[in-house]
Amino acid sequence: MLPSPESCPALVLNADFRPLSYFPLSLWSWQDTVKAVFLDRVTILSEYDRVVRSPSFEMFLPSVIALKEYVSPSRHPAFTRFNVFLRDSFRCQYCFTPHITHELTFDHVIPKSKGGTTSWTNVVTACGECNLHKGSHLLHECGMNLRRKPWRPTSHELQESGRAFPPNYLHESWRDFLYWDTELEAS
Ligand SMILES: [Zn+2]
Repeated sequence: MLPSPESCPALVLNADFRPLSYFPLSLWSWQDTVKAVFLDRVTILSEYDRVVRSPSFEMFLPSVIALKEYVSPSRHPAFTRFNVFLRDSFRCQYCFTPHITHELTFDHVIPKSKGGTTSWTNVVTACGECNLHKGSHLLHECGMNLRRKPWRPTSHELQESGRAFPPNYLHESWRDFLYWDTELEAS
């Protein structure tokens, strides 16, 4: 049986052939992909074994595309929930245990009630337990320590952090583009 077009997203690479983003992985639906092909904005690098047809055309669905024009990432990413988790590699910054996203919260290192700001340098990823334990105390008051001091990450740092998370679906044609520039492990 043929896969439905919906299960055939295209991996989107920048003009330098690196994924636009690693986590979440930059994917476009087949509709957006076909549109971009017709607008001549992308180069097709690989295709699925799946044809879509309309009365006037038919084409193999692209599985990997590259933008013709390079998009430069903004140097400093937005301060969002997701980006804070990504900077902290989805780990509680107190106990350093990795958690699934819905078990993670945020902690103000200097509590808001004590003048702490909601900013890159004062907000860290925390698990519910550590968050509860810390409450509205300062670190030295509750004997807790940060594994890493929070900082304002660059886009590059977030990209690197995202590379540690392999996508849960990986079409074979994506592998080369996702992993060709990772360091080889010595065995
Ligand atoms: Zn914790």
